[in-house]
Amino acid sequence: MFAELAEPPLDPILGLAQLLARDTSPDKVDLGIGIYQDEQGQVPVLDCVKAAERWLVETQPSKRYLSSAGNADYNTQTRGLLFGEGSDGFTRSRTIQAPGGTGALRLASDLLYRLRPGGRVFIPGPTWPNHPGILKASGHEVVVYPYYDMATGALRFDEMMATLADLGANDTLLLHGCCHNPTGADLDLDQWGAVADLVAKAGAAVLVDLAYLGLGDGVDEDAAGLRLLATRIPEFLVASSYSKNFALYRERVGALTLVGGNEQAAVLAHAHSLPVARTLWSMPPDHGAAIVARILSDAELRQGWTSELTTMRERINGVRGRLAARLAEHGGRNYGFIANQRGMFTMLGIAPEGVETLRRDHHVHLTSSGRVNVAGLNSNNVERVADAIAAVSQN
Ligand code: PMP
Repeated sequence: MFAELAEPPLDPILGLAQLLARDTSPDKVDLGIGIYQDEQGQVPVLDCVKAAERWLVETQPSKRYLSSAGNADYNTQTRGLLFGEGSDGFTRSRTIQAPGGTGALRLASDLLYRLRPGGRVFIPGPTWPNHPGILKASGHEVVVYPYYDMATGALRFDEMMATLADLGANDTLLLHGCCHNPTGADLDLDQWGAVADLVAKAGAAVLVDLAYLGLGDGVDEDAAGLRLLATRIPEFLVASSYSKNFALYRERVGALTLVGGNEQAAVLAHAHSLPVARTLWSMPPDHGAAIVARILSDAELRQGWTSELTTMRERINGVRGRLAARLAEHGGRNYGFIANQRGMFTMLGIAPEGVETLRRDHHVHLTSSGRVNVAGLNSNNVERVADAIAAVSQN
């Protein structure tokens, strides 16, 4: 069974780690995998996380099983963060903890397949490369809608809406809540409103993938799109992750939040998601969720998190500006869009050969799609990286 297997293709993102390890240059820059790095290129544990972990070690009475829904405080805090505690969206939603944003997406995908068998899921082109695999693993047919123009760095909103006109009542629309991965280009609130009206008319389901809350313009600003959705459509799903905004990557901390037309509908949706989770992982891992629950429910720790998150966000937006400014000095292609986009990513719109040249000749590592993790840039490398990009763009 195993001996005759062919070598599997490298995962487009995780395979980068191997190429990076093989590069022995002291100047190599990792702009591939989507992690936030600080000004020193480190991926530190947040102070608020360390404090919550210490508190947990001292006070946690037991590690006995919880339920398939996971940590109840965490779930309540999560929908509070998404919609604002006590808001209408908060009241009409219920959350189930999941292993990372990936687990939340798979749970959503399996639940949707049970509720709407045979429906299609419309995903943006381009999107996070794991989306099609997750959705197809549940049995969904996947349709790509136009989203982003690689040549100009602009949204293809009119074409997007034209394709979405095909959404039927059995279909699902997948949207990125903020900080679109891989493009950094988000819908503005008018566009969120237009999409909400369209799906309301079509009766389609909506799944919002929210993996970067707070890393664009702030928590409330980044949640504005899904909060608007809550005022316009009765039901939708949100798959969220604390991997990036709490730097808890390996702890696998995510959640699926189900918004219903009223509280009772949300409670029912939640009840139907529990048996799905039971067959996927039975119970989600507790440690990361217990940390997040502690931080969000303790005023001082929450304040600490807000300020650490602000530092991350401002650093990202700062290096975006510096990269765009240095590229502008070179003339040639207009890369001004990099400064206006949000989150950790942008697409350079250069061919795989150009990406290969960046890796081979300049020791700058990106995904072959030309996606750059701008959070891997810092004062030591941003100008050198800009110069390398300009050199490759001109060829
Ligand atoms: N959705 C998007 C758009 C992402 O970029 C990521 C992480 N790269 C995820 C979901 C999954 O996040 P997690 O690591 O929490 O599973």
